[in-house]
Amino acid sequence: MKTDVLIVGAGFAGAATAFHLSQHFSGSILLIDKEECPGFHASGRNASLVLQSTANREIRRVVAASRQAYSQLRTEVGFEPKGSLLLGKKDQLEETREPDLIVSEYREPEQVCGQIPWLKGHEFEAALWTSSDGVMDISLLLQFYLQGARSRGAELWLNCQLLGAKGDGPYHLETSRGTIEADYLVNAAGAWAPQVAEMAGAFPVPLSPLKRHLFVLDKVPSLTPDQPFVWNLAQNFYARPESGGLLISICDEERTVSLEPTVSPDISQSLAELVWLELPALREATQREVWSCFRTKVPDGSFVIGWDRAAENFFWVAGLGGHGMGSSWEIGRLAAEQFIHRNETAPQPFDPSRFIGDRPRILV
Ligand SMILES: Cc1cc2nc3c(=O)[nH]c(=O)nc-3n(C[C@H](O)[C@H](O)[C@H](O)COP(=O)(O)OP(=O)(O)OC[C@H]3O[C@@H](n4cnc5c(N)ncnc54)[C@H](O)[C@@H]3O)c2cc1C
Repeated sequence: MKTDVLIVGAGFAGAATAFHLSQHFSGSILLIDKEECPGFHASGRNASLVLQSTANREIRRVVAASRQAYSQLRTEVGFEPKGSLLLGKKDQLEETREPDLIVSEYREPEQVCGQIPWLKGHEFEAALWTSSDGVMDISLLLQFYLQGARSRGAELWLNCQLLGAKGDGPYHLETSRGTIEADYLVNAAGAWAPQVAEMAGAFPVPLSPLKRHLFVLDKVPSLTPDQPFVWNLAQNFYARPESGGLLISICDEERTVSLEPTVSPDISQSLAELVWLELPALREATQREVWSCFRTKVPDGSFVIGWDRAAENFFWVAGLGGHGMGSSWEIGRLAAEQFIHRNETAPQPFDPSRFIGDRPRILV
């Protein structure tokens, strides 16, 4: 088997890159994933939030640009702009704002607790309302990218694991479905991106996969599906309505040796403590479900998109942390642009080479 581009990973990173690349690149594209369905890991298990107001300016711009695209494709990708309420200290919220880019307004805590009954009794200093934020049908969005890419000739192979790489473009790639030759290798392997980089002799970008859990609670007072999502930056939790219950995260970050998405033993107790101390209206709620997956981050909390400097013809779309779904449209677009206009574009904020040397450049 021979292909021009091999993309490893059919999560949002790989699927959005294949979608945009297939619009502008005339060569062949093969997307592989080791699992039996696309989006099996973080891309299929995340909280589905499109949150534009984040402290990292570059990420804020990428999410805002993506949100605009989703608004135009609302039905096709399943985007519902239900709005968001960011809670926390006023200076924390102020750090996430960029009024020229994202329209948001402060609301009084009493007004917010009236709108969201499960917040009754919860104490917070300030609240920021952003009406254009929302939730996504993540399965629909992923299928949109994959179908778009396939309609332009890209192929998707599932149950196909990259096991080894030799050469530097053309690459001789050993996979669980046989040998593949590829001129270019795109690393969109999420939590496994360090392993793929090592196989190909690429620069060891300092990526850390961190486990995070999501719960669904029942018996939540006055919950309606149209309520916005709530994120408290000071107390570190977020929640939104989900299938008649409340999906909630306590923003845990656990380093583990294994990359299996197992449920950690004490995690339900940690949620119970948060509820007991901070969310009295949820004390009668019961746990319906819990699961985990990995957010993969670099030290500066930004993304890793661009050509590798150590391995020839090796391209990164990784380190998407907690924003890889909401910003996937623009991530794929930027990746395709930089892939095609290699050496023509000015250094980009997400360039993997920012980690070369002892003192990585910190992006804000
Ligand atoms: C609990 C939680 C909640 C989140 N909530 C949100 C949210 O609300 N909004 C948001 O925008 N983001 C959210 N995120 C982040 C988002 O889910 C990720 O940033 C995004 O899904 C990362 O996509 P990816 O394609 O890089 O990784 P993945 O989805 O993990 O995809 C990588 C793929 O590569 C495949 N792969 C790995 N190694 C190989 C190999 N050797 N051969 C073949 N295939 C391989 C894997 O099987 C996998 O399918 C959340 C993350 C977590 C953990």
